[in-house]
Amino acid sequence: MSRKILLLAGSSEAREIATLLADNPDYEVTASFAGVTRMPAKLAVQTRSGGFGGVTGLVEYLRQTGTDVLIDATHPFAVNMTGNAALATNELGIAHMIVQRPGWQPQTGDSWHFVDQLDHAADLIPKGATVFLGTGRQTLGSFANLADRRLICRQIDPPDGPFPYPNGRFQVGRPPFSIEDEIAFFKAEGIDWLVVKNSGGDASRSKLDAARALGLPVILQRRQAVPDVPLVVSAKACVDWLAL
Ligand code: NAP
Repeated sequence: MSRKILLLAGSSEAREIATLLADNPDYEVTASFAGVTRMPAKLAVQTRSGGFGGVTGLVEYLRQTGTDVLIDATHPFAVNMTGNAALATNELGIAHMIVQRPGWQPQTGDSWHFVDQLDHAADLIPKGATVFLGTGRQTLGSFANLADRRLICRQIDPPDGPFPYPNGRFQVGRPPFSIEDEIAFFKAEGIDWLVVKNSGGDASRSKLDAARALGLPVILQRRQAVPDVPLVVSAKACVDWLAL
């Protein structure tokens, strides 16, 4: 009989896992999206969308669907979902694996500054600077104290409202971006500083490579600790674990 898997998606690893498990008769995979991105990239398995309704809702969902294994391949900064998943699988005693790629590490010569909270960026960025925000539109509330800087916030979907501050704008674009594109974009906009999450991985690293090439300083938000759940760093390792 096939094992029922709930794949919490939102990362490139989730897409890879879906591709690796699709058409494998040993597994019946449902991938779950939060429903934040209006047109998420298609996955190779069946999908559902929207929150579960906290830990209680997730426990109910896992019970009703008879899920055997939960794979949390959400983005490394989706800490609420990851915390809820740990509590739910602990309550039900079902197998659980977190798939999380390592964070980026600075190279010699990089001007990287690590912060725990994004609103600390204002302590580092001088007035008058032009700042690229690669942290997503949902983080804009953290930058109210950057009023004296020019802000450019990149997001996947076209904006559904005006930029929340008078001194900035959205830039619509779906990753991946090449290093050359990022360099050209940063030069054209006169970017002085970058603010990013330490997401890790190859898909969105080009902005850091471009910053390195241009000698730009970067502020990186540190990750929070993950719950006490088994963790692998790649899609392949996760699929290997499932097959054990
Ligand atoms: P979050 O703060 O951890 O989650 C907020 C709530 O959204 C969760 O409590 C849950 O609602 C729902 N949710 C999150 N991921 C879900 C999933 N895969 N399936 C169903 N419901 C989900 O997450 P977030 O930072 O808002 O991110 C939302 C989604 O975007 C995540 O799936 C994440 O992988 C992806 N993403 C996040 C980032 C980032 O920087 N945070 C970047 C790229 C992609 P309920 O409590 O109602 O279940």
